[in-house]
Amino acid sequence: MNPRLSALRISLLYLVLAALWMLLGDHWLQMVFPEPVQLLRWMTVKKFVFLGISALLLFLLLQRHFHRQHATVNALANREERLSRALSVVEDGVWDWDLRNQRIYYSPGYSNLIGLPCERLSDDALLWENRLHPDDRSATLAAYQDHIDGLSEQLDCVYRILHSDGGYRWVHARGRVERSASGEALRMTGVSRDITRQRSNEDHLRQAAAVFEATQEGLLVTDSRGIIVHTNPSFSRITGYAVEDVLGGQPSLLKSGRQDAAFYQRMWEALLRDGAWSGEIWNRRKSGEVYPQWQHIRAVRNDQGQLTHYVAVFSDLSSLKRSQHELDFLAHHDPLTGLPNRLLLRERIEQAIARAEREQGGGALLVIDLDHFKHINDSLGHSTGDRLIKAIAERLQAVLDERCSLARLGGDEFAVVLESPQQQHASSLAQRLLEAMHAPFEVDGQTIYMSVSLGVSLFPEDARNVDYLMQHADAALFQAKASGRSLYAFYTPELTARARSHVQVETALRHALDHDELRIYFQPVHDLASGRMVGVESLVRWQHPQRGLVPPSEFIPVAEESGLITALDAWMLDQACRQMRAWLDAGITLDFIAVNVSSRLFSRGGLEERVALALQQSGLEPHHLELEVTESAVMQNFDQGLELLCQLRLLGVHLSIDDFGTGYSSLMRLKRMPVHKLKIDQGFVAGLPDDAEDAAIACAVIALGQSMGLQVVAEGIERPDQAAFLLTHACDFGQGYWYDKPQPAQALLAKLPRQSGQPL
Ligand code: C2E
Ligand code: MG
Ligand code: MG
Repeated sequence: MNPRLSALRISLLYLVLAALWMLLGDHWLQMVFPEPVQLLRWMTVKKFVFLGISALLLFLLLQRHFHRQHATVNALANREERLSRALSVVEDGVWDWDLRNQRIYYSPGYSNLIGLPCERLSDDALLWENRLHPDDRSATLAAYQDHIDGLSEQLDCVYRILHSDGGYRWVHARGRVERSASGEALRMTGVSRDITRQRSNEDHLRQAAAVFEATQEGLLVTDSRGIIVHTNPSFSRITGYAVEDVLGGQPSLLKSGRQDAAFYQRMWEALLRDGAWSGEIWNRRKSGEVYPQWQHIRAVRNDQGQLTHYVAVFSDLSSLKRSQHELDFLAHHDPLTGLPNRLLLRERIEQAIARAEREQGGGALLVIDLDHFKHINDSLGHSTGDRLIKAIAERLQAVLDERCSLARLGGDEFAVVLESPQQQHASSLAQRLLEAMHAPFEVDGQTIYMSVSLGVSLFPEDARNVDYLMQHADAALFQAKASGRSLYAFYTPELTARARSHVQVETALRHALDHDELRIYFQPVHDLASGRMVGVESLVRWQHPQRGLVPPSEFIPVAEESGLITALDAWMLDQACRQMRAWLDAGITLDFIAVNVSSRLFSRGGLEERVALALQQSGLEPHHLELEVTESAVMQNFDQGLELLCQLRLLGVHLSIDDFGTGYSSLMRLKRMPVHKLKIDQGFVAGLPDDAEDAAIACAVIALGQSMGLQVVAEGIERPDQAAFLLTHACDFGQGYWYDKPQPAQALLAKLPRQSGQPL
């Protein structure tokens, strides 16, 4: 109610009542007290009564007024106190901005917001404005201005404000403008809330969500009852289940059945006891595939400690196991060629040795080393070297069969384990590996010729243990390298010699025949009595490009086995006949030139045609040619041999039995042989004159020869006492190092006997 109206009403009521009191009171007194003195007295009484009533009324009114006023002030004070108490506990900053004088009232909460004590909070609007973060300043001021201008319903903006600790606080400010009737903005009142923690929580949540989405681990969240409430993309990738397939379902859907109930019971016990469980578990993908995963489950509780969720994080171990497999592969294989490395080779050798022992089998380790590979690296660079190594590995691999396993030992070394009980498999494999290198390699536009050397050791013969076997193969390799590379060698020299001559020498010999690597050497034969040189024996030599001069003992057996001996002997025969013809033409007075005829050639036939051809082509008279046939060659097939000897004899050539004394000829047979000479084997000459047995045999052979009308030659005379003994016992001729070593025609020329007067 309008206070003025209320006061007016009370005053008017008082005026009416007072006026009525005066008029009616006087009138009533005049009627009751007609007497003037009495009337006057009562008139006075009436005045005082009026005064008293008025005072009482006034008192009552005033009392009521003051009472009310007091109550109002009290209520106001109470309210204000409550308000400021409320504001002081509110963490939000409350502010009231008088827009006309730019003064701002800040609540105590605001002082917390910016870290200034209340007493230092100035009411200047600039205090706030100056503390705005430079990046947020213009947007914030614009938001305030928009609202002041009436462009927005209410102020609602987020910005950063400087705290007295030097950092910034995120603030969410909301407020509203109060306007005059004319619409003029008078003040703006609002609340500013510190949302820094909320923001950082949001950031954390955002980061956590990103991790949740992006992590390679599968994630599965269930509520406390085990109902799936969340999964991440990796969950779907690993299990094959889309989110919608599993939401609302239970994780048991993933069970593979591989683990028994006891396993899951232990898992739940751990979860309840420790709040977490980790372990390997086999699950089933949507495709049905069973796979191992490493799983970590954690129970999540709220602030009150109540279980709210379970979070399971798992990784697919099948890929881990795959990478373990890959690591294992890397650990056991050479990265360049992909071949097994030394480690794996050792394992394979161990297995092969064990198998060989179990099954009475055997095998070989072949260590292969590239010859002069360093030059390739040095001259063409390592990357070309690497490509060459790969190409070589492929070529070696192509030679192998299922009994073999190739490995790269590192650098330019390879190795092959061969499982076969037959030794010749090792030598033929070695030979094939050598031959595989013959064709050049085309690498980076370059044509590269490579050769390898091989060392072979056999198991169980050479070793029954990996280390020894490898050492032996290395020793053999060293031997092969030392013998001239592009070769192989066995650990035992005997095997090396045998194997080499059987396979490799053959090839090389073929090459030698085609490339003029054979040489003819001559060893003089002397008349023991006169000392005169009467003839020469032609002996073959092989001028090997790497190995130098190779003696016949190293290649004649191979040549014989391979059949190359035919060509070899034919060549020697030709050369000898030509040489003898040339010497004779030059006035050299030699009686004969002897040529060795292999037992193979002897038994094969065609010899007499060969001899006839050689004589004819050279123009040498047959009696100058002497053919040396070993005793054993004739005895092997006596009738055929005898016939051949007869045919040769018919040609007019002379014949001698070489290495006599070693072939168990019977006297009967010897008698029938149309030969001119016997050559006492040098084995018997060696023991002369002291070895009684050798002496007896030598004497017997000499006597036999004489009795049969044959000339006797002793070969291998190295000392004068040997020559003296033989002369004493009437041996006709002698041959040996003591007189002369076998040598080329050129070297021998000066020593050859000439007709007197003939110029040198
Ligand atoms: P062979 O026919 O009995 O030849 C004699 C061997 O004794 C030769 O060995 C000769 O160098 C060697 N010799 C000579 N004097 C001495 C000496 O004082 N002491 C010692 N320790 N040795 C001596 P070479 O040249 O190594 O020939 C070995 C064998 O190879 C020959 O034995 C012969 O059976 C065979 N041979 C050599 N040349 C030919 C050939 O052209 N054709 C065939 N088929 N066989 C040949
Ligand atoms: Mg001979
Ligand atoms: Mg001989």
